[in-house]
Amino acid sequence: MEERPFSDITYEQYLKEERLMGSRCKECDARFVPPRSICVKCFSSDMEWLELKGKGRLAAFTCITIAPPFMIAQGYNRKNPYISGVVELAEGGRVDARIEGLDPNKPEEIKVGIPLKVKYLHTEVGAKKETYLAFEPL
Ligand SMILES: [Zn+2]
Repeated sequence: MEERPFSDITYEQYLKEERLMGSRCKECDARFVPPRSICVKCFSSDMEWLELKGKGRLAAFTCITIAPPFMIAQGYNRKNPYISGVVELAEGGRVDARIEGLDPNKPEEIKVGIPLKVKYLHTEVGAKKETYLAFEPL
């Protein structure tokens, strides 16, 4: 069915197409987002693509005030922080993503466990087009 390799590059290509793709281990049913070509649980390399619906729950988060350069380029800094989170996906597996629609200046009001849905952030910094995975409250 899907012939693309299980790699971060493929994962990012899919994000550009607004598809959230991971891999599923056919041996033990473990799920990985971004996709892995080898299962870290049972070491099988018998993997298949899994398209995720983009629903999940907030498992953990951090409000980032000291941003890496690519985020500073997008206008984030100490005065304009952003939220980086881990989302527990409805189909299983966990993914790192930006969290939008919540106030990074009020981390005490952000609750772990809230339902989220996927959002694709298409950005253009200079001539470079990137798509970032984000989630926002349902
Ligand atoms: Zn496995």
